[in-house]
Amino acid sequence: APPDQAPGTSTARSEALFQRAQRVIPGGVNSPVRAFKSVGGTPRFIASANGATLTDADGQTYLDYIGSWGPMILGHNHPAVREAIVEAAQSGTSFGAPSEREVLLAELVTRLTGTEKVRFVSSGTEATMSALRLARGFTGHSSPERKYTVKFRGNYHGHADALLVEAGSGLMTNAAALGQAAPSSAGVPPEYAALTLVADYNDPAGLDRLIQERGHEIAAVIFEPVVGNAGVLIPSAEFLAALHRVKAAGALLIADEVMTGFRLSLRGASGLLNLEPDLTCWGKIIGGGLPVGAYGGRAEIMDFVSPIGPVYQAGTLSGNPLAMAAGLATLRELERDPDIYTRLERYTAALGEGLTSLAAEAGLPLTVNQIGSMLTAFFLEGEVHDYGQAARADTAAFGRWFQALLGAGVYWAPSQFESIFVSGAHREVDLDFTLTAAKQAFSAAKE
Ligand code: PLP
Repeated sequence: APPDQAPGTSTARSEALFQRAQRVIPGGVNSPVRAFKSVGGTPRFIASANGATLTDADGQTYLDYIGSWGPMILGHNHPAVREAIVEAAQSGTSFGAPSEREVLLAELVTRLTGTEKVRFVSSGTEATMSALRLARGFTGHSSPERKYTVKFRGNYHGHADALLVEAGSGLMTNAAALGQAAPSSAGVPPEYAALTLVADYNDPAGLDRLIQERGHEIAAVIFEPVVGNAGVLIPSAEFLAALHRVKAAGALLIADEVMTGFRLSLRGASGLLNLEPDLTCWGKIIGGGLPVGAYGGRAEIMDFVSPIGPVYQAGTLSGNPLAMAAGLATLRELERDPDIYTRLERYTAALGEGLTSLAAEAGLPLTVNQIGSMLTAFFLEGEVHDYGQAARADTAAFGRWFQALLGAGVYWAPSQFESIFVSGAHREVDLDFTLTAAKQAFSAAKE
């Protein structure tokens, strides 16, 4: 960069690529939040990633807090993961027939998470979509009227039709534009959305009421055990107890651990919060940066899945050898070094404390929700426990803060309603660098 430019302000090549991309890809991106729509500015096209950093097409290196939206808990381009992928690639890239790595990863995942059986798919969306179908198939076996599922306002479970209802993540900035509350996307027929009942997160009484009235019609209650997709929301003990009461009504409890699985502990949020879901969905870390998702639970439920059960679910690239190799290498590394979770917590808590005091110094209202290596700094005053409270955030101030950070070489999540992710590659010096940049960014955020 020319000397008069900050480390992250050159955008000539990213801008050129973005122009070309917009001609051939809707909005120039293959996943909406990447387009920077809610924060403005030019999305950076990334050329390479290493450790805790991303390097863009203009040659600028950023300290990365996205971690590919969760998978890169070991940092980018981790040698063990890279070598596992290269080694696997030397034996062919897809077989369309079973292979040993699938068995190894299934054995590892079931052992680490205390589930009996898992099925691998290729994304978190596929995992939640398939788990819902399985829940309907399994519970409908004894009571065919169970066709409804319950989700929580602001939780995001991927983009299957039934789950694009009052959804979080990119939808939190999209729904307003569409001017509709539910469904959160065009193209989802109200008839589909009508099969999804929506309740408020952290509202045990509301959930109890819904289960009392409709419990006999409900196949499953799906939830983020710690929410990342409305920004970080932490569940209360009372809410978790209410979630477990849905089982008594004959509904399955589905923990969507796509984001939290292997991130908050080796047993995910379920391990940290003592949850006992009937089914669990995984994604992100389970594939170590390659496309993998999974769902699993007790054998009596999982054996309802084809080919031995009546619930159909399949995938051309499911259990892909490269993806299995990346997942195996990542999970093995985490198991070898379980102290990583203590280090991640320490770093992220210090980051949260630093941001809180810098915002106070700058006279800006800020509420930090943090657990383990997940954190959201909400630009608002007061506590944030649900979607409605999160939605009060000053997104314009967040946008100015985000741009100032990016210009200083810190790549934060480009939306107020996302979690950031710290990796094992983030070091003490990175924390100092981040807080120095954040201090200036808070001044910039004040207008
Ligand atoms: N569930 C949760 C909790 C997620 O955070 C996400 C993605 O961010 C998904 C499901 C969907 O996963 P994918 O984007 O891999 O389809």
